[in-house]
Amino acid sequence: MTPTDPAHPVVLDRVSVSIGGRPILRDVDLTVRSGDVVTLLGPNGSGKSTLVRAVTGLIPHARGSVRLFGTPIEEFRDWARLGFVPQRSSASGGVPATVREVVASGRIGRRPLLRPSRTADRAAVQSALDVVGLADRASYGISQLSGGQQQRVLIARALAGEPDLLVLDEPTAGVDLPNQQALADALARLKARGATILLVAHEIGPMMPLIDRSVVMRDGRVAYDGPPLTQEVASHTHHAHDHAHDGPGGHDHVPHVASPLDFERRTR
Ligand code: ADP
Ligand code: MG
Repeated sequence: MTPTDPAHPVVLDRVSVSIGGRPILRDVDLTVRSGDVVTLLGPNGSGKSTLVRAVTGLIPHARGSVRLFGTPIEEFRDWARLGFVPQRSSASGGVPATVREVVASGRIGRRPLLRPSRTADRAAVQSALDVVGLADRASYGISQLSGGQQQRVLIARALAGEPDLLVLDEPTAGVDLPNQQALADALARLKARGATILLVAHEIGPMMPLIDRSVVMRDGRVAYDGPPLTQEVASHTHHAHDHAHDGPGGHDHVPHVASPLDFERRTR
C-alpha cells in the first residue's frame, strides 16, 4: 500500500467508449484524487457501469486515455492495487465454491501464485467476512445464499484484497440498512488507510459522511462534478424532465435518500 503515491489513482482524459458501434461514453474527463471517495450518480443507462468497466480495464476505450496511478491502462500491471465489486453479478456461476473461498480469491493478487495462504491472508479474509456480516456463513456454498448475501460476498472479496483503489458498482443494491452501515464502516476504514474509492451509488444512506465528491452521468457524459450530492438531489437537479415521460414500469426507480445527514450536507 502506498497511500503517498503522488499520482492520481484514476485519470480519464476525453474517454469515449462504443459498444457495437453505438457511442456509450462521450468525452468523459474524470480525475479521482488519492484518498478521495467519489460517488458516481445518474439514471440507469447513463453509462456509470460502462465508465467503471473502462476504469477497471474490462472494456477498451475507443478514444482518449485512461491512467491508473499515473500509468496508461494499457501498460498497467499492478492489478493487486485495484479492487472491483461488479454490479448485480452472481458470485456462483455454477462453481461449487464456499463463501470463504470466494472471499479468499480476493487475496490472490496479494501473494505469490500457488502459495498456501498466510496468517495475514486468513486474517484479511476473516475481517472482510465480519464486515459484511457473513462470518457465520463462511462454509456455505455460494449458491445457498440469497442474491443480497452473494453481493456481500463480492464486497468482502474486494475488501480482502486491501486495495489502494476500490471500485464498487451499486454495492448496496439488495443490502439491508445494518449491512449498508457495516459497508460504510468498512469503507471508512479503507479511506482512513489512504485508499481511494469510486462508488456507483444507488442508495447512499450511511455512506454520505464519507463522500468527498459526486459525479453525475447523463447520456454518457459527465453532467456534474463537484461537492457531494445524494441520488435524490442529482435526479432533481439534472433531469427533472425525464419523469414526464415515465410510463408505468418503465421508470428507473431511484429510492429517496433523505436523512438529517443528507440535509446537513446539502445545506452546509
Ligand atoms: P448505467 O450503469 O448507468 O445504468 P450502463 O453503463 O450499464 O449504464 O449502460 C449505458 C448504456 O450502454 C445503456 O444504454 C446500455 O444499454 C448500453 N450498454 C451497456 N453495456 C452494453 C453491452 N454489453 N451491449 C450493448 N449495450 C450496452
Ligand atoms: Mg450500472
